[in-house]
Amino acid sequence: MGRRRRGRRAARAHRPARQRPRRGAVGYLLGGGLSFYGRTHGLGVSCLRAVELVLPDGTLRRVDAADEDLFWAVRGAGGSLGVVVAVEIDLLPYPDVVAGMLLWDRERAPEVLRAWRDWTRTVPESVTTSLRVMGFPPVPELPPFLSGRDVVVLDGALLEDDETAAGLLAPLRALEPEVDTVGRIPSAALLEVHMDPPAPVPFVGDHAMLHDLDDAALDAFLAQVGPGTRAGLMFAELRHLGGAFSRPIGASGARGALDGEYGMLAVAITPDAAAEEAGRSAAAALVRAMAPWSTGGLAPTFTEGRVEPSRFHDDDVLARLRVVRDRLDPGGLVVAAHGL
Ligand SMILES: Cc1cc2nc3c(=O)[nH]c(=O)nc-3n(C[C@H](O)[C@H](O)[C@H](O)COP(=O)(O)OP(=O)(O)OC[C@H]3O[C@@H](n4cnc5c(N)ncnc54)[C@H](O)[C@@H]3O)c2cc1C
Repeated sequence: MGRRRRGRRAARAHRPARQRPRRGAVGYLLGGGLSFYGRTHGLGVSCLRAVELVLPDGTLRRVDAADEDLFWAVRGAGGSLGVVVAVEIDLLPYPDVVAGMLLWDRERAPEVLRAWRDWTRTVPESVTTSLRVMGFPPVPELPPFLSGRDVVVLDGALLEDDETAAGLLAPLRALEPEVDTVGRIPSAALLEVHMDPPAPVPFVGDHAMLHDLDDAALDAFLAQVGPGTRAGLMFAELRHLGGAFSRPIGASGARGALDGEYGMLAVAITPDAAAEEAGRSAAAALVRAMAPWSTGGLAPTFTEGRVEPSRFHDDDVLARLRVVRDRLDPGGLVVAAHGL
């Protein structure tokens, strides 16, 4: 395991702007952080070794495991305890990974979705994948296999040697995807696999954590976004969680794990107010339809807008976090996106 400190951030700042990811690493980590390494290595926040934190009284403090209470709280309280100005994280030992995507037309969604669900029940924790039903507008900026298309995309990473990975993927490849980019790539290229937009785009979304995806759940999902529907979403995603996502890693903090076997995310791109209203409504309809399978909990990094903090934390964790927060910030100076 190595260390990542500010030198790496500085190097990143010199990359050309169009290549630079626009998500904040600190917001991602403090919110938990779900990556394609997660079923093996847990939430991103599990990698945190230390933070430099500007406290509400203006003092700068380096917080690590030596400060047991505050370090526990930082790894769960989001931005409620102060402003993080540096992080130290463990690096994972993978110079390269087997990763990529398989793509089918949306007409194949019912069989692909069922095959993926069955597959996720068998794969080892070395495999973390996501399945999205996606709709793209007909625009020249997109490659022809995406422009104006409704598709099903499966992507993710397999932390395995090539032969084992090929064996694991065989049942999905037997469904003859139209596009198959899965192969060994440098770990840094994993950022591109999910096809996230390189620049900020306006969007609205909604989210749920699901304890299971039985046949009735798949039917409910497809009734909203499957073939023949017009959901108005850019994508509806199911992420395979479980594994190390659901186990606190080592002496982890207040947010060590996520309850739920699958995470569901609905996102609509919103160039104008009408699209925003339609997107909110479509995302909410999907979450409503999947409510029978919801754990009731939420992952902060996937949650837009204000929700009850009890959706993120158990009562005892929340109570302990509030004690730490009130000690540091009795006047309520710090306002976080997801407060306590
Ligand atoms: C295209 C896209 C793809 C994404 N993919 C994933 C994904 O795969 N997995 C995943 O888990 N999430 C993903 N996300 C969600 C992302 O992790 C969250 O949006 C995250 O909160 C972004 O942090 P931010 O600092 O950019 O956002 P902000 O909205 O600025 O921050 C979110 C909150 O984090 C806290 N915070 C941020 N910076 C600091 C700081 N320096 N000090 C103290 N508190 C701080 C604050 O409470 C803040 O309100 C994705 C988002 C986008 C837009």
